[in-house]
Parts: sequence; structure tokens; C-alpha cells
Amino acid sequence: MDQISVQQIARVAVPVPVDKPFSYSIPSDFKELIQRGSQVIVPFGQRYIGGIVLNVTSKEEEPDYELKPIYDVVQSGPFIGNDLMQLLEWISSYYVCYLGEAYRLINPTVNLHKSKFELRKNGTEVPDHLSPALKDVLENLSPDKWISLKSVEAMLKKKDLLYRVHKLKKLDLIESRYIPPKPKKIYKSIDVFEVEKEKSWTTETKNKYLSNNSKKYIRSRELIAFLQNSGISTRQELLKARFSPGTIDRLVKEGVLRRTTKKIYRHQSNIYAEEIKPITLNKDQLEFISKVTPYLGDTPEQKTFLLHGITGSGKTEIYIELIRNVLKQGRQAIVLIPEIVLTPQTMARFRHHFKDQVAVIHSRQSPGEKAEILQKIREDKLSIVVGPRSAIFAPFKNLGLIIVDEEQEGSYKQSDSVPRYNARDVALYRAYLNNIPVILGSATPSFESLYNARTQKYEYFYLSSRISSRQLPRTQLVNFREEWRRTGSPLLFSENLLLKLEARLVSREQAMLLQNRRGFSPYIMCKECGYVEKCPNCDITLTYHFKGKNLQCHYCGYIEQAPDVCPQCKGFDILYKGVGTQKIEGEAKEKFPHGGVLRMDQDTTRRKNDLARLLEKFRNGEADFLIGTKMIAKGLDFERVTLVGIVNADQGLHFPDFRATEKVFQLLVQAAGRAGRGAQSGEVVIQTFDPNHYIFKYLMTHNYLGFYEREVETRKTLNYPPFSRLSLIRISGEDEEKVMHYAQQVAKFLWQANEDKRFGVLGPAPAPLVRINNRYRYHILIKQDRQIDPSMSYVRHLLKEGIYKNPKLKKWPVDLQIDMDPLEIL
Ligand SMILES: [Zn+2]
Ligand SMILES: [Zn+2]
Repeated sequence: MDQISVQQIARVAVPVPVDKPFSYSIPSDFKELIQRGSQVIVPFGQRYIGGIVLNVTSKEEEPDYELKPIYDVVQSGPFIGNDLMQLLEWISSYYVCYLGEAYRLINPTVNLHKSKFELRKNGTEVPDHLSPALKDVLENLSPDKWISLKSVEAMLKKKDLLYRVHKLKKLDLIESRYIPPKPKKIYKSIDVFEVEKEKSWTTETKNKYLSNNSKKYIRSRELIAFLQNSGISTRQELLKARFSPGTIDRLVKEGVLRRTTKKIYRHQSNIYAEEIKPITLNKDQLEFISKVTPYLGDTPEQKTFLLHGITGSGKTEIYIELIRNVLKQGRQAIVLIPEIVLTPQTMARFRHHFKDQVAVIHSRQSPGEKAEILQKIREDKLSIVVGPRSAIFAPFKNLGLIIVDEEQEGSYKQSDSVPRYNARDVALYRAYLNNIPVILGSATPSFESLYNARTQKYEYFYLSSRISSRQLPRTQLVNFREEWRRTGSPLLFSENLLLKLEARLVSREQAMLLQNRRGFSPYIMCKECGYVEKCPNCDITLTYHFKGKNLQCHYCGYIEQAPDVCPQCKGFDILYKGVGTQKIEGEAKEKFPHGGVLRMDQDTTRRKNDLARLLEKFRNGEADFLIGTKMIAKGLDFERVTLVGIVNADQGLHFPDFRATEKVFQLLVQAAGRAGRGAQSGEVVIQTFDPNHYIFKYLMTHNYLGFYEREVETRKTLNYPPFSRLSLIRISGEDEEKVMHYAQQVAKFLWQANEDKRFGVLGPAPAPLVRINNRYRYHILIKQDRQIDPSMSYVRHLLKEGIYKNPKLKKWPVDLQIDMDPLEIL
């Protein structure tokens, strides 16, 4: 074929709400670089946006019109493999969004390297008919010198000149060239130390450090022993172990220690120092590993395992061992861990075992750090990615295993933007595409996953004992109602809990106190007239924060000074109702003036290293009690914590959500699981006003499956998940009238399409929180019986074609959200 006459074009998916790719011509500079999966920058309308090449075809297959050229190839970004492309197509179909919206998941904002894009005038003339805008650009260019687009934009003090450049090129008035950027330097250099081989020591030093017992050399000898034990250490680690810079440098000078410079990747430089014990697996752990192993590598069958292991049963050790097997096969692994569990401890464990081969992704990383990780994946320098939901899109080429830890966690669901996907379910589909096993791990599996295990869709495995023969903590229930009546005062800590906290101070053990609500008081109320201060933007009470003495809305961020007098009756007697973490903190400090108290919640962990610092303090024993929201309930592992107190276990139990009890149970099990993870056994004190609630019967006996059986009976009667699937349509806007009317239009369409009653439609109805941030919210809930249409294909079709894409509906000043398998229905 004649190569010159056949122009190659690229079909590019761009992150905009459309379902089809766009065609662009490929400039000769980029020919070598562009193929299916390349990330590119293309002109789109008046903008320039990042896109992904779906395929490359020849110009002949296209209608005959002029195509715009691709402007840049993003070489530092990942190359997107076939499985990811298919995965995104599935996401757009399953979660009812445009393909372009699904592509946003792997196409973080990319920028054109304007400094590498250079322009030169073609000749010296400036035609008279040219628009002033184009003249401006032309006048800043020269025919003898290449000038970067960046400089031109700086000179004209304008951004987005590319469109004008495009026009000038079409008029043949300028030419352009592109110099691909060099890969970024993605590591920094640090000094590491190790002990030199003894035979290379001089006789003099041997005498000094091996046989001389004088006091002078004690510290040096300790340093040598330290390094012999650790193998290799950074200067920082040595200083932390209290060796002086003088000692270190002298030993280097004398040839006892060797100093080398090591390149480390920036995203790994923040290492949390913790002693890691070697792994010895018990019988149960080994049995599970042997069940999974046959499905690693090239096997005809794909399997999903539900690993139900009580807290402290050693799930992480299993993951580590299985990943080792995967790496031996030259494949890679993804480990999803909810952000809240992704503590410095967890990261340290993975780094200890996999060193440079593992990268941890988390939301506090800068875009630069994230880009480094992607570049390393592209260069095959990484084999494991550990992270929250976005880690499921890690562009590995030869994936061998996916692990979803804490698979029930709500944070796997992206609820706040399109596509509203659940990373656990996306993981299942990616595993299916790659024919590899998935492990869903949890101490409290979601009811959906347990149901799938019961119906043989997943293989179920139960780890019933803690590692190293440790016992589950003893649990005590405190009847708070009774206690309040007896003492005649509203207490925060029962007598029982106080005694146990006191005992911890005496024995130098530690305790954690859970109160899943931040702030001081969830609301303030006037004693005279009962007035409650609400957020002016939302239909929600304001939370009192002690620090700053202000009232905050936890939904929209509104802040106001707390009033001294009642705004309604001018009364002075204002009550602080309800209990938040700040109040617990205050109370603990008052009761135990000599105990150290730390608080961990959203308010105390806002800055980058706050969390790591807090945890380090607690580990070092700088505090005796750690008070916190659900942030302390998961993933933390402190050997000296022997007591967990649940300040108010009833919280959330009566939320208007069919999953309320499931969620509370899961949280309490997780929190209780923090106790007794070391040599000492643990205790849990649960304070409740409703001790006869059935949830406690199962909680006290660690009977999660019993709780599941009891709870799903109700779900079955009402046909809620796991027996049905849900789709929630959220409609919101500033004008309540319009929102209501729009919701009715949508519902009418669904009723008409559902004459044969293939699914159920509930609503439209005002959402339980009807106004947030000055927007009115209405819901329509669709319930699909699993027996009739297990993947909701009919409903999804209706939602996409009839509602999501409907141009008539788009004209309304309301916002429409479609949420498949919603986790929040508030
Ligand atoms: Zn009042
Ligand atoms: Zn608000």
C-alpha cells in the first residue's frame, strides 16, 4: 500500500457527555506514538482536552471532511490496555452514563505542554484582511526563530491561543513543531548505610570494634549491631534510633560502614517506621491460600472468593502470601483498601514485604505523585498497587489477582460524581475480563456478598479464630437508661466504663472510645421555647463546635457564631444536646486529668501528616485514650489497646435507611475488633439505651451470620437488596415546584414503560433530607426483582435512552442523577 496517500486517523474518546468517539488526523510527529490506548490532547470546540485513542484507522473509512489534528501525546501518562477500555464501556452501560463520562475515570486532567509546542512565521507578511485576534498572534512571531506557544501566550497575556494557532496554520501563515518532553525525574537521592564486610576492615578497626571493651566504643558497637540486624538503614532511621551524626560519619570514615546513595521514588519517601514481625501462617490461613492458588495463572475458570475472617484473623498476611505467588508468575496485583483503613500501618506492612514493587495510592497525594506511579506502571517498575477505589483502574498489563479488603465499605462507591460506580463490583468485572480470581475480604461482609456466597456465586471461606491463639474481646452491655435513672444525671461514661478506663491508666494499657459524630453537640436547643438552630441552606440542625464556639453545617459547610441568647425568645438558657467527639474528649480530660487524651476525627486530621502524627503519638504511648469517629474503628492495630468503649451504640440505628442496622452492626464489630490485638486480651463496653434491641444479642455472641439470617428475613418481606436490585433517581433544584413537576414527568415515563409490572417504582417523594445547600431534593426508587431481570438490563435501557439522553428533560433547570445499586438513600 502506498503509505503517503493513506492518511491515518485516530478515533478518540473524550471526557464529555457523548457516547461516540471523535476523529482526528495524526500529525507526522506523532505517528510512532499513537495507537489504541494512547492518551492524547485534542482540540474540542474552543477548548483543548485530554482523550484516549480507541483505535487508529485510515482516512478512507471516514466521510470526506477536514479533520483537526491531534495536538499532543501524553507520554508521561499510562498506556491504557484493552481490558480497561472494555471495563469503561461496561461502566458506561451498567451505571447509565455516557462513555465519555466513564473515560474520566482514567483520564485525569492532562495538560498540553505548551512550552514544547513551538511556532514560526511562514514569511514576513501580515495579510490585511486578518482579524485583529489573529494579527496579535502573528505579530509576536518571527520567521527566523521558533517561539513556544507558552511564551506567545505570556506576551499576549492570554490563555487558550491554540484555536487561533489552528486557524493561522490553516491559512498557511505559520508552521508548528512539537518537541516531546523528556520523562520527569521521579526520584530523589538519599544516603543509606550498611556494615562493610569484616574482612575489608583494617586490623586496627577490628581491634577497636570487635575486641576492645572500653566504654568509648559502646555506642559505635550498638550502631554496628543495629545495622547488622536491619541490613540497611537510612540516615533518618539511624538518627531516629538516637545514633549521633558524629558516630555515623566516623564509622564511615574508618571503613566500618559503607554509605551508598540510593534513588527512591518520591511517593515512597514518607515511611512510617514500625517493627514488622515475620509471617507464620496458621492452618486456616494456609487452607484458604491452597484453595485460591489453583486459580492463579492461566486457568480455565474464574473465581470469586468471599473471605469472611473475624477481626485479627490475619487476612492481610494471606493477601501478602498470595501476592507473592502472583509476582512469581510475572503478573501484577491490585489491593483495594478503603481510604479510612489505609493507615500508615497498613502501608508500612506492604512496603516491608514488597519494597519498591508496591505503590500506595491515596487521596492526599499530589497530582505529580500520582503521575509518577502511573509512569512506573507504564515502565513495568511496579507490580502492586494498594489504594482506595480509584486503584482499581491501575493500568497493569498482566493482572493476576484483585483483592478487595473490607468489601462492604461504603467508600468504594463513588456517590458524588458520575459515574456512580462501586469499585468492588468494577473489580469483579475487571477480574472476569482478565480471567483472574478476586478475593473479597471482610470481618462483616455486605449482605449482597453473603447472599452471593449462599447462592454459590462466590466461594465462601470463614476464618473463625484470631492469629497467635488470641481471643476475641469480652463484651459487656451497659443499660444506659437504667443507669441514668439510678444516678439521676445524663452521663457520658457509665460507672463500668469509668472503672475500666481507670484500670488502664494503672496498668499502662490503652483504650479507644468510639463516638461516630464529630463536633461537640449535634444541636443546641433553647430551654425556654424549644427553638433549635438549623442551617439556613439545609433542613438540618447545626452542630456546635467547641473550638471557635461556632455552629457548623456538616452538609454544606455553613458556619455561624453560636448565639448567647435564643434568636426566638431571647432566653439565655441554651442547652447543648447530643454528644460529639469534642464533648467526649472534654469529659475524658475532666475525669482523668492525668491521662493523655487524643482525638481523631475529620477536624483533627485536615492537614497532610496529621493522621500519621496522631497515630505515632498514640503508638509511642504519649496518650492513654484515643477518642474518635468511625475513623478509629477500622484498620488500626495497637498492641496495648485492651479496651474499646462504644459511647452510644444506638446512634444511627433508627436512620430511615433499610441498611441502618447492617451498617451499625458492622461499625460496632470493627470497633470492638481493635481491642486485644496484642498479648493481653481485650474488653469491650457497649453503652446503649435500648439493650433489648436484637442487634446486641448477635453482637455479644460474635454471631454475624445469625444477624444476617435475622435481618434478611425483613429484607425478603419488603423485597429489598440482596433480594432485589435498586436504582435511585435523584432530582434536585432550587425551585421546589419545578423539581416536583420534573420528577412527575420522569415517573410518568417509567409507569408507561412498565405496564406489565416488570419492576417496582416508589415515588416520586421528597428525599429524607429534603433540602441541602438550598436545593430541594426528590427521589424515585426503582426496585427490580432479581428473579425477573438480575442485571436490570431493561431498567438501565429505559433510564439511559428515555431519561438520561432525553433532550427535552435536559432543558429543565434541575439536576438529574441516576444511581445504580445506591448505598445512600438519604
Ligand atoms: Zn427560646
Ligand atoms: Zn447546610
